[in-house]
Amino acid sequence: MTCPLLYRFRVIDKIPEPPTPATARGTLVHAVLERLFDQPAPGRTPATAVELIGPEWERLAADDPDLAALAGAAADRDALMGEAKSAVEGYFTLEDPRRLEPAERESYVEAELESGLRLRGYIDRLDLSAAGDIRIVDYKTGKVPRADYEASALFQMKFYALVIWRTRGVIPRMLQLMYLADGEVLRYSPDEADLRATQRKLEALWRAIERARSSGDWRPRPSRLCDWCRHKDLCPEFGGTLPPLPELPALAAAPAAQPAL
Ligand code: SF4
Repeated sequence: MTCPLLYRFRVIDKIPEPPTPATARGTLVHAVLERLFDQPAPGRTPATAVELIGPEWERLAADDPDLAALAGAAADRDALMGEAKSAVEGYFTLEDPRRLEPAERESYVEAELESGLRLRGYIDRLDLSAAGDIRIVDYKTGKVPRADYEASALFQMKFYALVIWRTRGVIPRMLQLMYLADGEVLRYSPDEADLRATQRKLEALWRAIERARSSGDWRPRPSRLCDWCRHKDLCPEFGGTLPPLPELPALAAAPAAQPAL
């Protein structure tokens, strides 16, 4: 949806994207909030959450040398810990986890559409009310999107809602994006028409991807998001030279689509 050429770099060329301080902060804060709900409800306090930051970082860094390298210098580590602490404290301004009992955390979901297109992803948190209403929650450590990017942020949530609807037969009552550092929440209640439109959009996207795969024409689509693109040095829009396209096997059944996070 953002840029066909960026999709090619990531999915066809499979050019690695090592973690950045921003993605490392996101990974760490997600891990802390997931672990927080291991505590009995009365213990889910800001102090407990902040205490989890150091041990969770050690665990993540032990598994991923690229992450560990980001906090090699004491100043980098202090900056990362400080930003994670602000985001975790921001979370407590948005809700009280002592009053919640999530049904699922970091939940893998997958559904296959009638067309054969498989959708899959991870949901940060899924809450279930006594009446059976589902709320999908996603934590964001970046900035609240400007109004013109809000629809794109919600598209990821509608993607998850579609997967839940297709696998469990229930339309989630609420989609909730929590912007921790900014202390803001974006909520949306989808209906069946929304989810059908999301499905049509995904299938149209998949057809566009198949066309680009057949023609080899992965066109750059410059936008303000280019400032964050990790492959700008290869992009012809910025003077780069494209690497040759790798050999690709023949197209089989529609593979899986995942939301871009
Ligand atoms: S720099 Fe912009 S146009 Fe080029 S690949 Fe990245 S997102 Fe696309």
